Amino acid sequence: AKSLGRNTLCFFDPNMQATVTANATVGSDLRVALNEEQFVVHYQPQVDRVGVITGVEALVRWQHPQRGLIFPADFIPVAEDTGLILPLGQWVLEKSCEQLAAWADRPQTSNLSIAVNVSVRQFRHPDFVDMVMAAITRTGIRPHRLKLELTESLLADRMEITIDKMGMLKALGVTLSLDDFGVGYSSLSVLKRLPLDQLKIDKGFVADVLTDPNDAAISRAIIALAQSLSLQVVAEGVETQEQRDFLAYQGCDQFQGHLFAKPLPIEALDALLQNPTAG
Ligand code: C2E
Ligand code: CA
Ligand code: CA
Ligand code: CA
Repeated sequence: AKSLGRNTLCFFDPNMQATVTANATVGSDLRVALNEEQFVVHYQPQVDRVGVITGVEALVRWQHPQRGLIFPADFIPVAEDTGLILPLGQWVLEKSCEQLAAWADRPQTSNLSIAVNVSVRQFRHPDFVDMVMAAITRTGIRPHRLKLELTESLLADRMEITIDKMGMLKALGVTLSLDDFGVGYSSLSVLKRLPLDQLKIDKGFVADVLTDPNDAAISRAIIALAQSLSLQVVAEGVETQEQRDFLAYQGCDQFQGHLFAKPLPIEALDALLQNPTAG
């Protein structure tokens, strides 16, 4: 559902028209959804090499009154196009900080981190750093428990501004992760200049890591790169023990995927955290 460029010639295609109409409907529904708080955050655990849950990734879902639970692929692109990603992203950020605050006084949960996805548009907003700071201050959380997942596409242009802004976020004390790493084209020389804490291997590479020699080589290279830059490396989309073992053997630090847990509503996550062996 990527928007067409302004100068793109567009031939009439009934399927495309259907998509455009559906997106317009989603767009106006999204506005209502924001006002009526129809969004929910699910949290997917991330585990370390010994299987202990060290944190979660916040993944937004839309609890639609008629259509049921809608996944991000069906509304995030529209939210990006309409600019609604700004209030939506801010809402997920605030929600996540509130959750960190709720976990802060129990010893079993006080060290957990929450990773929040930040869209390019959100990151580029002139007030983004201030809004992150305000959310941290309002909730009183320890900033390093908040992890911002930035995507490689941020590095496609305006590099100096991007690096400066990442520096400001780092100065707030938050943790910075580069999401979907390997999909784009960040060079080693660029990576070296970024104040990152973590790289995340995209599930696209993890899926075929045992069967596709290219994907195995890419995963190996990402892990080696992360180690040479002293960055943590997290693999997402880990579905089998064999994938986990291969990545662990290469030196991967953390794992996230259906092998461990799916993204969970907060009640289910809290239950899992209270009794980790029951999962
Ligand atoms: P992502 O950041 O790459 O998140 C990982 C996606 O992989 C999630 O999809 C997660 O549910 C899925 N996943 C996790 N483990 C497995 C596994 O073992 N197998 C498979 N096949 N998939 C797994 P989800 O929740 O549908 O989210 C899709 C994308 O939507 C995210 O990809 C992210 O780019 C975006 N997104 C989600 N929440 C937010 C948000 O709050 N803000 C922004 N800007 N984007 C978001
Ligand atoms: Ca992510
Ligand atoms: Ca991904
Ligand atoms: Ca492949």
